[in-house]
Amino acid sequence: MKNWAGNYSYRAAQAITPQSVSHVQELVAQHDRVHALGSRHSFTDVADTSGALILLDQLPAQISVNASTASVTVSAGVRYAELARELHRQGWALEAMASLPHISVAGAIATGTHGSGDRTGTLSSAVCAVELVGPDGQLRTLTRADADFAGSVVTAGTLGVLVRLELDIVPTYEIRQDVYLNLGWKAVFDNFDALTSAAYSVSMFTNWDAAGVYQTWLKGKYDTAPSDLLGAAPASSTQHMLVGGSIDGVTQQLGEPGPWHERLPHFRASHNPSRGEELQSEYLLPREHALAGIDAMRSLAKHMAPVIQTAEIRTMRSDDHWLSSAYGHDTVGFHFTWLRDPAGVYAVLPAMEKALLPLGARPHWGKCFVAQREQLAPLYPRWDEFLALRSRVDPEGKFANEWTQRVFG
Ligand SMILES: Cc1cc2nc3c(=O)[nH]c(=O)nc-3n(C[C@H](O)[C@H](O)[C@H](O)COP(=O)(O)OP(=O)(O)OC[C@H]3O[C@@H](n4cnc5c(N)ncnc54)[C@H](O)[C@@H]3O)c2cc1C
Repeated sequence: MKNWAGNYSYRAAQAITPQSVSHVQELVAQHDRVHALGSRHSFTDVADTSGALILLDQLPAQISVNASTASVTVSAGVRYAELARELHRQGWALEAMASLPHISVAGAIATGTHGSGDRTGTLSSAVCAVELVGPDGQLRTLTRADADFAGSVVTAGTLGVLVRLELDIVPTYEIRQDVYLNLGWKAVFDNFDALTSAAYSVSMFTNWDAAGVYQTWLKGKYDTAPSDLLGAAPASSTQHMLVGGSIDGVTQQLGEPGPWHERLPHFRASHNPSRGEELQSEYLLPREHALAGIDAMRSLAKHMAPVIQTAEIRTMRSDDHWLSSAYGHDTVGFHFTWLRDPAGVYAVLPAMEKALLPLGARPHWGKCFVAQREQLAPLYPRWDEFLALRSRVDPEGKFANEWTQRVFG
């Protein structure tokens, strides 16, 4: 079995698809080594194990809205597309979505997945409770009131198998999406804050070269959109962010308002998101270092040129999850879509990390990076507390794998 990008073959001795939560509990208790696997959209061995992989997509899907608490309880294997459709049907919405709605709720949250928006939190920041199966097979529920909660949400599956989550919801809303073409670097540097706050959610696409930001996607709650974005003109036809990408797969643009879940993701739930022939990396910096980070990436444009398909600049609000990329500060993310050329990609990452890690950049847990424990630990103020929590919850390392060995030791 391979991941979505096809660059990684899981090495687990077996993959099991339980049909009930009690079956998940039995499986976790029985095996020496286990790990949960979501919809396989990560790009590395993060979800793998030498023992049993547990896939939750056959568990009965639960999506229960509680209007009095403005929250939804959702089973872990449900994908965002399905959750979003049902929430919208009942008059509710999520604050944020990632570019791809095909990903599982638990897998996305476990890796700190996010969308974009100065005032929008990562997907994990919407979590108000988690229900997970610990190494002894026992079900535990943690809510925001629990001391361990903030360490138990973004965990890359290292504290147990999530079976249900409760998420904050908001009343449903409409979004329009407009794409602007060709924004020069000077306009970006002179107006960075104005640009990222120009809409509810903003994404800037670049290859870091002299062409600057070749597309800026504004996703707004307003009725009208600017006729000119600091000199960038609105596109008069639907755009894909990748050269040659099929516009059938991208969400409605050209300013036509529609439901939040059909505009916030870049890709339509009904289509295969892209050619799949890609790898991804992402580094998330304290927002105050955004321009220094952009400068650093521009100076490496030639270095990346052989493998880059596009890069995307996004922002997000600070949160308090210990291993979240936005822990403690408003954040800017530099996402990279690479060619599916592992050797070429892993050859460029060290120079990028050498430039970005000193600016406080944290790698996306679900994407490709090379930094290991020594470089990562100083980037997370609550790192040691997370390690202590992990030792306490999983002293035998039932949820450990080669990825956790590199990252946590
Ligand atoms: C085309 C594409 C677009 C993307 N766009 C974005 C984006 O816009 N923003 C962004 O931040 N990321 C993005 N990603 C990255 C993606 O969101 C993450 O890789 C995410 O982890 C995928 O979820 P998954 O269910 O496929 O997880 P998997 O790859 O299956 O697993 C990832 C991790 O989650 C853990 N996990 C899964 N299920 C559970 C569970 N039930 N209990 C405990 N742990 C669990 C696994 O153990 C593993 O550690 C994108 C990826 C792709 C392929």
